[in-house]
Amino acid sequence: MIEYSYPATRHRRRHGPAGYHDVESFRPWLRDEFSFRCVYCLEREAWSNLMTAFAIDHFVPVSTHPASSLDYENLLYACRACNAVKGQLRVPDPLKVMLSETVVVHGDGHIEGRSDEARLLIDMMQLDRPAYVARRQLVQYMLQLAETHDPIFYRGLLGFPVELPDLSRLRPPFNSKPNGIAKSFHAQRKGGNLPATF
Ligand SMILES: [Zn+2]
Repeated sequence: MIEYSYPATRHRRRHGPAGYHDVESFRPWLRDEFSFRCVYCLEREAWSNLMTAFAIDHFVPVSTHPASSLDYENLLYACRACNAVKGQLRVPDPLKVMLSETVVVHGDGHIEGRSDEARLLIDMMQLDRPAYVARRQLVQYMLQLAETHDPIFYRGLLGFPVELPDLSRLRPPFNSKPNGIAKSFHAQRKGGNLPATF
């Protein structure tokens, strides 16, 4: 299932903005970095249709590591449901653990970890609880219906947002990975290289 396929390899950051004084300034970078999806449950902006349904998650909590609160490497893009569960927890790193080899989402909506760390993360984040299972069932059902009856709706559900962040217009005080901007989804769309679905 394309909609619930975790990445094949560990995520390597494409962007490196730094020097902002507020965490919200990192949002466009994080949206692009993590493909407009929650790093924990793969919920997409397109399914809620509101990017405000997404939070900026501090992987290492601010309460214990205030110095990391504006460190891009410590920031993740997460849906508000996952962000609320995560709270102050120290969980295994989803970028290392939530991979296609170690996490499988079944047709019935259940999620299965196939490594100790993946099982621990799924357990701590409650990713197999009934609300998440029901959500996955609903999304899969919507996608099946759309694929059969409404190709435009289908592409909307699995396509990129209409408004993509134009990172080339942003001016962070520092950027350790400026070459990432040319690989951003906005730049890909401009170049005519953006896939219809992902
Ligand atoms: Zn989530």
